[in-house]
Amino acid sequence: MNNDDFILFTPGPVQMSKSVLEVGSRQLPYFRTDSFSRQVQFCEQNLLQMVNAPEGSRCIFLASSGTGAMDAVMTNLFNESNNILIVNGGEFGKRFTELASFYNIKFNEILKNQGETVSHKDLLISIKPDTNAFLINGLETSTGVLYDLHLTGKFCSDNNLLNIVDGISVFLNDELDMINQYIDVLILSSQKGLALPPGLSIIILSPAAIEKVKGIRPRSYYFDFQKYLDNMIRFQTPFTPPIGIILQLKKRLEDIVAGGGPGNEIIRKNRLANYFRSGIKEFPLRIFSERLSNGITALCPTDDKSAINIVRYFEANYKVYLCPNGGKLSNKVFRVSHMGDINEDSIDRLINSMKKYYEL
Ligand SMILES: *Cc1c(COP(=O)(O)O)cnc(C)c1O
Repeated sequence: MNNDDFILFTPGPVQMSKSVLEVGSRQLPYFRTDSFSRQVQFCEQNLLQMVNAPEGSRCIFLASSGTGAMDAVMTNLFNESNNILIVNGGEFGKRFTELASFYNIKFNEILKNQGETVSHKDLLISIKPDTNAFLINGLETSTGVLYDLHLTGKFCSDNNLLNIVDGISVFLNDELDMINQYIDVLILSSQKGLALPPGLSIIILSPAAIEKVKGIRPRSYYFDFQKYLDNMIRFQTPFTPPIGIILQLKKRLEDIVAGGGPGNEIIRKNRLANYFRSGIKEFPLRIFSERLSNGITALCPTDDKSAINIVRYFEANYKVYLCPNGGKLSNKVFRVSHMGDINEDSIDRLINSMKKYYEL
């Protein structure tokens, strides 16, 4: 299967840059070496800086997709004596509630209609006297809603809650700032805004989160954060890491720094998202999300077309992967990602296909 002439508007995987692809085509080095430790150190330093992590924060590099990182956060930071508050506004919020149920962690959920954001009032009426942590997917990728992470972070700080943010699809698309958004645990993963192959997740723990990990008995042998923290003293991992993706991460971070830093990356995404949104005004489509990210646009057909059929038609006829929604939204909503190595030309190609499709 050759996907080189397809273009991905899915989150994710997303289009990868030539320089990242080139690193992925090389032989791997052995990893228990000082040389590989230095690559990991570079990645950690740059990641911590890019998300403005508090002094003393550490990165955990896991060989897993993003859900593995969400799972690991659940088992390493909480046990049956915690009561956590979860924002459930779509697939990924629901996943946090399923994980909490699975591990018998008490939780309350802020259940939002899909496409809606979270208000200060939602937060105030949902907190319980024994709530001690808050979990949110910064961008609920399934509905395209970007939550107000300043609002939720301030709420956590005011109420002394450990603030856990799944920033998997926020990173490099919209602002992520651990200090200013009062984030204690930040979950990242390779195949969204980072535009790398899937298989590497990164958990950034603030000093407060590192303290919390010490007091919890881990419930997984493989995903035991303390082992990862101990190994990070020499910039290593307890088990074989996804070596190739870590080297691609290093290249990607170097490219971001050379481009002027994550702020410029976010400005570029904002420009592309606006370019796409202004280009589709004539089509019978409505934007689904109450609060928009630069990373994705979720769209509802306003004519009688089915969203899932649109996605299938574009794959079959135009070599374009749009992103379908699952479950109840499958006929109603599809998504267009602006993540990864795309530019105005890629968006023109999509918009021209849409013109043909709608015969406009
Ligand atoms: C993609 C994504 C995940 C992780 O999904 P995986 O398929 O396990 O990689 C988690 N949270 C959000 C918000 C995501 O967009």
